[in-house]
Amino acid sequence: MNEVIALEGVAKRYDDAAAPALGPLTLSVAKGEALAVTGPSGSGKSTLLNLVAGLDKPTEGSVTVAGRRIDQLSEHALAKFRREHIGMAFQFFNLLDDLTVTDNILLPAQLTGTGRCSATARAAELMDMLGIRKHARAYPGRLSGGERQRVGVARALVNRPELLLADEPTGALDTASGHDVRELLTDLHRGGQTVVLVTHDLALAEACASRTIHLVDGRLALDTHARAVR
Ligand code: ADP
Repeated sequence: MNEVIALEGVAKRYDDAAAPALGPLTLSVAKGEALAVTGPSGSGKSTLLNLVAGLDKPTEGSVTVAGRRIDQLSEHALAKFRREHIGMAFQFFNLLDDLTVTDNILLPAQLTGTGRCSATARAAELMDMLGIRKHARAYPGRLSGGERQRVGVARALVNRPELLLADEPTGALDTASGHDVRELLTDLHRGGQTVVLVTHDLALAEACASRTIHLVDGRLALDTHARAVR
């Protein structure tokens, strides 16, 4: 399967708003693509990310992720689907301060019932890759913003998700940490990870995305893969 995300005629309307917050939008994201979603505040970026993550449901259209149509799944089935197929590095998914870095990273693996041994090996591999191995036994409160962000990304990747979703990954970071996260996303993309990244940061989009879409008032105003514009 070459498509990790397929949105067909997707629209999201909140309450009785005159215009939809998003769409109608048809968009597909291929395996291995790193897609940056940009646009002004209120243009529908978070709405799009929430629909792809199955955190919200469209009012029209279909959302297919990793070959599975998710817009009609129950909450329970969606939670399971997310744990198994989607890694989420969102600012509001905070790390747990009373667990070590390693235990934070292992959490999603425990939820899917992955064996402790293989999950621990995977966590160690990710910590090496992300340069945070030396903090394995530390508590998140002692780390810098950039390091915490890396722990969040490691946690998002521990179950080897088909899709990594990142929401403003450099938003709260100083310049040096922002640079680290940028390199990290670029490395992940080079390694074949499919990524969708919501950002205000055009330099970040340019540096680590293979494709950028720009939303204005919930509509696709630009897609650097011009063929995908409808
Ligand atoms: P962005 O992430 O680009 O800032 P959003 O997706 O958050 O944009 O919002 C798109 C539009 O939908 C905005 O007009 C926003 O006010 C509206 N919106 C978002 N969430 C809700 C909600 N839960 N209820 C009502 N309107 C919402």
